[in-house]
Amino acid sequence: MAAPINKVLIIDGGFSGMAAAIELRKHGIDVELLELNQDWRSYGAGNNMAGASMCVQPQPGVMDAFMEESAASNSVDGYIATGCRAARLPTPSIAGHDVPGDCAIMRASLARILADVTRASGTHMRRDADGARRPDSRSYP
Ligand SMILES: Cc1cc2nc3c(=O)[nH]c(=O)nc-3n(C[C@H](O)[C@H](O)[C@H](O)COP(=O)(O)OP(=O)(O)OC[C@H]3O[C@@H](n4cnc5c(N)ncnc54)[C@H](O)[C@@H]3O)c2cc1C
Repeated sequence: MAAPINKVLIIDGGFSGMAAAIELRKHGIDVELLELNQDWRSYGAGNNMAGASMCVQPQPGVMDAFMEESAASNSVDGYIATGCRAARLPTPSIAGHDVPGDCAIMRASLARILADVTRASGTHMRRDADGARRPDSRSYP
């Protein structure tokens, strides 16, 4: 039988790394998260999230903050130049009744929300310009 995993190193302080850290901590796994970028900033402006992406949001602590700072709906409207609505495309939720099917949020807001929850989960978050190139990280079990 394979040995149980009780310690994980995540090299990525972006959305994926933080979402993975939160999920692993829920299972009591010791997580160290390394981020190369000293500013730990999220590039770009907005982030549109639909369908499967929204399944990650029901993490404890994430959804309330997420709903406060995002624009959420269960459909997307298309308008023509005169301002008339031309179409409404349904985006039904696949993540549960209380989770909308479509959301848009500023990247900096999403990064801050995830960072707060990741920190609160007990993940050891480390900003380190040497990132995964540190000699001690290479020998991580
Ligand atoms: C222009 C643009 C628009 C997009 N719009 C959307 C959208 O609307 N909706 C959507 O769902 N997705 C969108 N995406 C995709 C989305 O941004 C990515 O899927 C998401 O950011 C991936 O997250 P990630 O954590 O895997 O990678 P990243 O966000 O790239 O994060 C990786 C992190 O790892 C760090 N890192 C790299 N190497 C090392 C190392 N050696 N040691 C330590 N740390 C390291 C980096 O500094 C970075 O912070 C868009 C992408 C782009 C480029």
